[in-house]
Amino acid sequence: MKGTRITLVYLIVALAVLSAGIAFSNALFAAYRAQKELLVASTLESNLAYAEKLAEVVDLYMESIERQLTVSARRIPAIMDSPAALQDEAARVAQQSDGLAGVLIVDRDNKVLAQAAADPSLPQERWDLSGADLRAREERGNVTAPYLCAGRLTVAVTEPVRDAQGNYLGLVAGAIFLQRDTEVDKLLSQHFHRDGSYSYVIDASGQVLYRQESERGELRARNHAVVRALKEGGGAEGRVVRADGEDMLAAYAPMRHGGWGIVVQRPLSVTLRPLRGLMWTIFLYSIPAALVCIVLIALMGYGIAKPLSTLARAVRELDCGRGEPILRSVRAWYFEADQLRQAVRAPLEQHQRRIGELNAETLTDPMTGLLNRRGLAHALERASGRAFAVLALDLDHFKRVNDTYGHAAGDRVLVELATIMRAQVRREDAPCRIGGEEFLVVMPGATAKAALAVAERIRAATAKREMPGGVGRITISIGVARCPDDAPDAEKALERADQALYRAKRGGRNRVVAWSVSDTDAKLGAAPARHTPPDSAP
Ligand code: GH3
Ligand code: MG
Ligand code: MG
Repeated sequence: MKGTRITLVYLIVALAVLSAGIAFSNALFAAYRAQKELLVASTLESNLAYAEKLAEVVDLYMESIERQLTVSARRIPAIMDSPAALQDEAARVAQQSDGLAGVLIVDRDNKVLAQAAADPSLPQERWDLSGADLRAREERGNVTAPYLCAGRLTVAVTEPVRDAQGNYLGLVAGAIFLQRDTEVDKLLSQHFHRDGSYSYVIDASGQVLYRQESERGELRARNHAVVRALKEGGGAEGRVVRADGEDMLAAYAPMRHGGWGIVVQRPLSVTLRPLRGLMWTIFLYSIPAALVCIVLIALMGYGIAKPLSTLARAVRELDCGRGEPILRSVRAWYFEADQLRQAVRAPLEQHQRRIGELNAETLTDPMTGLLNRRGLAHALERASGRAFAVLALDLDHFKRVNDTYGHAAGDRVLVELATIMRAQVRREDAPCRIGGEEFLVVMPGATAKAALAVAERIRAATAKREMPGGVGRITISIGVARCPDDAPDAEKALERADQALYRAKRGGRNRVVAWSVSDTDAKLGAAPARHTPPDSAP
């Protein structure tokens, strides 16, 4: 579990980085979409404008042809009876009109009166108008359906010839090649292919009349798909899928002539090609800001999570006693963290109080409230490193007290003695009960004089005190030893205080005896080195 622990800090930082990343990519994606829509819209718009312009140009061209044929049609009635004049007229029109391959003059029975090529060296079949459908011959400015002339797609523009009364006499027709190296080609091709766009002219049936560098059969199929899609979409421009699957941006502009129209289209892929570079530029430019954002969010997230995780650690370490300093180190800079810290601190303090109480209990003798043996060890530990004195106390003939007044009365005497001890020792001294009726006082930093004075005060106060339970007065004996004057260490000091106590007992009890070198022999019965004479005896 430990190895896979996911902490709040990591979570928040990860969340911050993730959300910044999502926002960043979303912004990029939105920019991409917006740019793409913009490109598509502007391409469609320019395609439409382009198609309309081309339609206008081709219309103007067709009108100029019509005008020339109209002029000719007015002249013809006057020369109708002269084949030579008619032939001259046909040749003149054919040569003077830009883009006419040949000119034909027929009478009302469609009998050919004259015909001439724009280029006299061109063989007859190359400008022939015999394939043209002249059925609508009486209409002005009629453009025939396309027909093939020497394998080239051709249309004829016809103009009726009428006499002064308006009677139909025949017609004059001009042939226009629609494919390569023709006038239409010149008009349209100069604008094409620079940006991947291309255009073509279609007739009312959707047949492609003109397109650069293409084969007709192939065009017809493609064109149908685009025009049909545009018409079904009900618009002059739109996104259509070409028959070969290519996504195209197409626009259609109708012409005034022959129900023709012009389609301009451009592959979507070509239109969107600059977008990749643009996106890459946007990406590069936004990296610094995105990084700053991510770092700021991560820092902010860290700042929010840190107090919480420190609080969690403080709670975890409560039992080890390290919770308090950790809790103090929490920088609860926002409301909720502060609330949490306060919420954790209350039980922590209670917890520590309880631990303190438990500690005190384990170090204290329950009956007298003095330190027990464990407490004594602590007191000695605290006193070590500097000079201290030890008093060893023992009640005189205590067995008799028990025997005479009972064990409970004996206990009350012990409690009373503890009270006397507490009252007589200095604040820094540690009175202890280390056995049944055996007591010790550890006196840190006490001189020999001070130790003896305190011992004497305890002895005298005890001897004077009326003990509870009808026990009356009792006495105690006290042995005093000092460390390091009398003993090199605490253990030895206790032993020597005990030896002095022993000498006090031997010396007649109810007295204070300081340890001396001769005490080593005290147990062997030597006289006490120092003692306080009893001032009262039980
Ligand atoms: P002395 O010390 O003057 O030589 O005589 P003593 O009678 O006090 O000697 P001893 O040390 O032999 O006796 C100690 C007695 O203390 C024995 C026991 O009955 C009594 N005592 C020990 N612990 C307790 C206790 O906790 N309560 C009571 N009431 N008596 C205890
Ligand atoms: Mg004893
Ligand atoms: Mg005793």
